[in-house]
Amino acid sequence: MKIKKVSLYRKEMPMICGKFTCSLEPGVDNAEVIITRIATDCGLVGYGESGAVGSYPMYAPGILASSAELIERHLMDKDPCQLGVIQQTMNMIPGQGAIKTGFDMACWDILGKSLGQPLHALLGGKLQEKAPLYRSITHAPPADMVQTLNDWRLEGYRQFQFRVGHGDMQLDLARIQSLLAEKRDNEMFTVDVAGNWRVDHALHILNRVRDLDFTIEQPCWTVDDCRSVRERVNLPIKLDNSLNSVNDVLRAYATNACDSIVLHINKFGGISPARVVRDIVGATTLGITYSTQWGTEITTAALTHLALTTSPNNLITTIDAHNYSPATVATNNPIVVDNGEMWMANDDPGLGVAVDDEALGELVKVIQ
Ligand SMILES: [Mg+2]
Repeated sequence: MKIKKVSLYRKEMPMICGKFTCSLEPGVDNAEVIITRIATDCGLVGYGESGAVGSYPMYAPGILASSAELIERHLMDKDPCQLGVIQQTMNMIPGQGAIKTGFDMACWDILGKSLGQPLHALLGGKLQEKAPLYRSITHAPPADMVQTLNDWRLEGYRQFQFRVGHGDMQLDLARIQSLLAEKRDNEMFTVDVAGNWRVDHALHILNRVRDLDFTIEQPCWTVDDCRSVRERVNLPIKLDNSLNSVNDVLRAYATNACDSIVLHINKFGGISPARVVRDIVGATTLGITYSTQWGTEITTAALTHLALTTSPNNLITTIDAHNYSPATVATNNPIVVDNGEMWMANDDPGLGVAVDDEALGELVKVIQ
């Protein structure tokens, strides 16, 4: 089998949460996905995508332009089912997972379709039938965040990620205290700082709330600073922003820098490196959260398959990313979200997403 034609689309993803705060841009109200459609000489078609919000993990036009260069120069002559060969080529470019994610995902979709197997079977089989979900709640005054928490509880969610940072330390402390006062025993709370505190800020705040039951996510920007905080507070620490590759995960584990990790599939480079991280985590007692900076049903399906094939001992949670925007690409309602859990609605081959080609957004580049 050979790749015959690759089409790259840019699709806007309006946010249901209003504005979102990311590293460089504190008030983004629109995310984007770059969708990769691979057509083969035998007629099989696969889909993948890579999300971006503001500048994170990079601007969408950069993902699209660099993906196109990579595909045009090095990947057009490949068999999409030979994922090891494709990874070997991609690995010659260090990092830059965002430009590799869509292509890798689309190749897995084609491999599954060629074998008549769903992705979870290719990944080793399901270790659980449903994946627990978290809901991300963006920065707002403390009372508003509590209200949002209560709204999502009604939908069945029991894991919540609250975003803080970007400003007033006292406000962050008030947010944590207000939200934790509401916590129920069957819920898991994570406070995500996205690296925005200094070490001394983190110590001031976390020592005030050290007896409360929550995980602190990426309190400071670097791994070394997060480890410094971890050594001096009594809370589980999750790393996110400073993990961008398989090697970053290995180093974080080897240096005892965290208790759990977030794997953003859109910056790690797709399903192939995510599978490696899943298996590394499986050899340890680290917890793992699968996430993405936005995505349609294509990315959410990939996250679901990964989560379902992760040991329940390691899996903390994943995200129903497609529900953070009204934009959609699927025609078959491929993903079930119910009572704070998620699973695939079908065992169709590949990702299990029937894609409407008319819903892919602006066709920016065709390579053939
Ligand atoms: Mg985070």
